[in-house]
Amino acid sequence: MSEQNSEFTRRKFLAASMGCLAAASVAGVPGVIMADENNKPTGKMIERPLGKTGITLPIVSMGAGAANDPGLVAACYEAGMRHFDTAVSYAYGRNEQMVGQALAKLGVRKDCIISTKLHTPSQRNSVSTKAESKKLMMSTMEASLKRLKTDYVDILYIHDVRDPAPVTDEAIMEGLQKLKKQGKTRFIGISTHANMAGVVRATVEAGIYDVVLTAFNFTMADDTALPAAIKKAAEKGLGVIAMKTQAGGANYPNSETLRNYSTAVINSAAFKWAMRNENICTAITGISNYEHLRWNTGYAADLELTSEETRFLADNSVLLGMGFCRQCQGCLASCPKNTDIPDLMRTHMYATQYADFTKARRTLKSIPAGAGLALCTSCGSCVAVCKNSVDVPMKIDQLREIYDRIGPISTYC
Ligand code: SF4
Ligand code: SF4
Repeated sequence: MSEQNSEFTRRKFLAASMGCLAAASVAGVPGVIMADENNKPTGKMIERPLGKTGITLPIVSMGAGAANDPGLVAACYEAGMRHFDTAVSYAYGRNEQMVGQALAKLGVRKDCIISTKLHTPSQRNSVSTKAESKKLMMSTMEASLKRLKTDYVDILYIHDVRDPAPVTDEAIMEGLQKLKKQGKTRFIGISTHANMAGVVRATVEAGIYDVVLTAFNFTMADDTALPAAIKKAAEKGLGVIAMKTQAGGANYPNSETLRNYSTAVINSAAFKWAMRNENICTAITGISNYEHLRWNTGYAADLELTSEETRFLADNSVLLGMGFCRQCQGCLASCPKNTDIPDLMRTHMYATQYADFTKARRTLKSIPAGAGLALCTSCGSCVAVCKNSVDVPMKIDQLREIYDRIGPISTYC
C-alpha cells in the first residue's frame, strides 16, 4: 500500500472513531479504546502486568506479522496499543522494517514494547559449533535492530520452539543472556505453537527466561496441561503472552457457523475465552487491516461473556465445523507415511486463511525432506484420531493445488 493511501485509510479510521478520542482529549492516550459503531467510547482497555518485568500492557497488542501498512501500526498506537510483535523471518525482514519505520516516524519508541524473534541457529542455518551459533545470533540481532531502527528490543524470543530441547540448549541460553547483558534486548523469552505445555514448562524450569509466548485459544478448552503450565509460569514471575487467540479460523468459519453467529460474536468470544485467563498478560492478535483493529479494540474493556458468546463457546458444532489444527501432534503416530501433519496444517492456515504466502512457503520449506506434501495417500488414519476433526487429506490436497500453480511440489517439500 502506498504511504499516501495508507494515510488516507488511517484518517478514515480515526475519523470514524473521533468521538472517543475527542472525549479523551489526546489521540494516543494509553488505555483509551476506540468508539463503537455509534461513535460512543466503549471504555478503557484492561491492563495487566507482564510477570516481573515491570511492564504493564493493555490486554490487546498488535501482532504485526501479517501487516504491511505503517499507517495501521500508527492507528494501533493511537488506539492505545503499546506492544508490537514482529519477527526476523516475517516477510524476510521487511515486517521489522515496516514496524520500525512506523514507530520511528511517530517518535514513540520509548512508549512502546517491541518484540522480535530469532530462529534457533540450527533451525535455518548449517551451524555446528556453540561459537558459530552464538556468533550467528549476535549478527542476526544486529541486522534486526537496524531494520527496527532502534538500539534495543524489549523482548527477544527464540521463534517457534516445538520441544523442550532448544529451551535449555547452551548456545541459545548463553547467546540470549549475552544479548541481554549487552542491552540489545531488555527481556528474553521463548515462543511456541506446538507442544506448548511441554515447552512452557521447560521455559519456566530453565530459570533464565522472562517471558513466554504461547498459542492459546478456545479450541484447546479440553487441554488441562497448557493452562497448568501457564499458571506455573505466572506464579514463577514469567510474563505470559498469548497468540493465535482467534484460532486462525475464527475469521473464516464455515457457512453453518456464520448462519448461527455474527462475525462480531465469533471474534469477541474467541478473544474473551483466552483473555479470561488472568495468568495471561496480553494477546498479540494478528491485525492486518482496519477492521481487525476495530474488532480487537472493541472487546478489550470488558471480558464478561454475553449470552451469545457463551452459546458460541459451548456449541460443539463450531469446533467441528472449523477444523482448526491446534498443533497438538496427536495424529503424528497414526500416519504410515510419517507426514509432518501439524506443519502442513499450519502451512494451510497461512496460505488459505491469512493469505500470507511468504509464511506459508517458509513453513513448508522447513519441513524435512520426506515428511512433506508429496507422501500423503489420503488414507484418513489421522482424521480418525484428531479431536478437532481436521480434514487433513482435504487440506493437503488444497495445498498441493496451490503449490502446483507455483511450481513443482518437489521444490517445496
Ligand atoms: S491435525 Fe488434529 S491431531 Fe493432528 S496436530 Fe492438528 S489438531 Fe492435533
Ligand atoms: S491421510 Fe495422509 S497425512 Fe493423514 S495419516 Fe494418511 S497419509 Fe498420513
